[in-house]
This record gives sequence, structure tokens and C-alpha cells, in this order.
Amino acid sequence: MTRELDLYKDLLNEISDGIYCLDKDRRITYWNKAAERISGYSSQEVLGTCCAEDLLMHVNENGESLCRSDLCPAAKSIQLGCEQTINQVFLHHKGGQRIPVRILTRPLFDEDGSVRGAVEIFRELLSNEQYEEQIRRLRDLALIDPLTNVGNRRYGEAQLESCLNETKRYQWKFGVLFCDIDHFKQVNDSYGHDVGDAVLQMVANTLSSNIRSFDRVIRWGGEEFLVILVNIQDSDLPLIAEKIRVLVQKSFLKHQDISLSVTVSIGATLCRGDDTKESLLKRADSLMYDSKQANRNRVTIG
Ligand code: GH3
Ligand code: MG
Ligand code: MG
Repeated sequence: MTRELDLYKDLLNEISDGIYCLDKDRRITYWNKAAERISGYSSQEVLGTCCAEDLLMHVNENGESLCRSDLCPAAKSIQLGCEQTINQVFLHHKGGQRIPVRILTRPLFDEDGSVRGAVEIFRELLSNEQYEEQIRRLRDLALIDPLTNVGNRRYGEAQLESCLNETKRYQWKFGVLFCDIDHFKQVNDSYGHDVGDAVLQMVANTLSSNIRSFDRVIRWGGEEFLVILVNIQDSDLPLIAEKIRVLVQKSFLKHQDISLSVTVSIGATLCRGDDTKESLLKRADSLMYDSKQANRNRVTIG
């Protein structure tokens, strides 16, 4: 029986979906290799912990926690003895960032038919291979910011030029989000520059994990990021900007038992027919500044 169990565990480790098992109290009893890769947490770190504690902390697009027992799909599977699926939730990665996943939970039964726990299967929603290939090419061309692994300002300038050309030629619309981390100096002053760097990486990862594979994230300056959204409908801009704002707010890093998180002020705008790179950036920057003036952690559209 033990050998058979080991065989099953080996097989589960070959699967690209994250899989973990919970007992009735939602304590984690099994954690496969893909779960380690997708979440950043090793099985030693999670075994025996309760999934409702500050580990994965699933949130929905509105930033609402699903870990309350009446919303948690695993808890529902345990209570109701049936399968639950959610097409998109955002799990907390050990690096702090939010990763979009699709989840399915199923009850696990004892031989007498009573529920003894649940299994959750989670699948990444971004095609990482495509994104990683893009990053490899950019690194070769010195267009990557070495700290955050997203495009640097030089790359951003070139991308904006090319999007503006496409708009003029084919009337393809694109939007930009100018995102500036709020009170970032306080993070450096309170916890040191290295922690500040880790926060910048967390924000960059949340941005790049939650855009479509053809959109772009750029580190524009110290704690400023630009997101370029190509082929976008007018009505999508506020929705995407708000989703990004919420997911940054809900990202957090553990530092000496403190949960560290930051917020961003965002200026969001669509390109216009007569825009130049300068006019577009100036408008986005000024909208971002309006968000700062309106108490930060918000989106201003214009
Ligand atoms: P606001 O809400 O008005 O944007 O306030 P802020 O503190 O975010 O803005 P401010 O411009 O005063 O400070 C930005 C800080 O970002 C100052 C700078 O030391 C820090 N910073 C810039 N680049 C880096 C970096 O690569 N690593 C770290 N750790 N800090 C950086
Ligand atoms: Mg700034
Ligand atoms: Mg700032």
C-alpha cells in the first residue's frame, strides 16, 4: 500500500497543475511539486498549516478574501460533499505577488462514505512560456530592468512609439496605466532598501502576472510602472485599471512577521488620434497625480 501511495505521489508531482489536500479542519496534508512552483512555497513550509491562514489567501477580482468558510470552495466541498470550481481567483505567491489561477475542489471520502477532507487543483491562467520567451529576447537586447525583470524605460519608449504608429496607420486603440507606488519612501525608511527592492519586485510581478500576454509592463522610473494595454475597448480601461489597483493592494510580503503591502495611484488614459509619446505620457502622469491628490490608492481615468 505504501509503495502504491508513493507511486501516486510521484505521478502527482509530474502534473503541471498545483494540487494539494486538506483535512476536515482545512490543514494541508499534501502539496505537489507544481504547487511549490506556482506558489513559491515548499511543501515543508505549508504541510500542517491551515489554508485559511496567511498563506495562499485567495482573493477575487474585487479583492474580497475567499478564505472565510462560507466562500472558501474547499470548505464548501467539505461541508456539502460536492465539487466546486472557480474560473478565476488570485493566489498569494511567497514573493508577495498575486497570481491568477482557476481552481477546482473536490471532497475526499473515507471508506465509510464520510467526508474526511478535500483536494484542490489549481491551474495558472497566464501562458508563462510566452512571457518568459519575450523576457529572454529582451534581456539579450538590454531592454530589461535587472531588478524587476520587466521592460526598462528604453523598451517602454520604443513600445509607445510603435503603438502610436499602429494607431495612426490602422486606428488600433491602446491604453496606458501610469502606476506610482504610494509612500514608497516610507518602505525604504522603515525596513531598508533591500526590502524596498523586494516590494518593487512584488509589484512588478503582480502587474506582469495579471495582464494579457501581448500587453506590456515597464519600469518607468524608481517606483513608477507603465502598463501598455493594446487593442483595448474604451469600456475595458477602467475595469483593468481597477483590477490592477486591487491586486497590488492585496499583494503582501512577509517581513519579520509583518505583512508588508503597498498601494498604487494610477492614471489611466486611451491614446488619441493626435497624441505624441510626450502628450500621452504627460496626460497619464497628470491623471496619476490627480489620484495622489485624491488620497492615493485610486484610479483616475481621462
Ligand atoms: P508618493 O506617494 O507621493 O509617490 O510618495 P513616495 O514616497 O512613493 O515618492 P518619492 O518620490 O518621495 O519617493 C520615491 C522613493 O523610491 C525614493 C527612492 O529612494 C525610492 N526608490 C527609487 N528607486 C528605488 C529602487 O530601485 N529600490 C529601492 N529600494 N527604492 C527605490
Ligand atoms: Mg514617483
Ligand atoms: Mg511614489
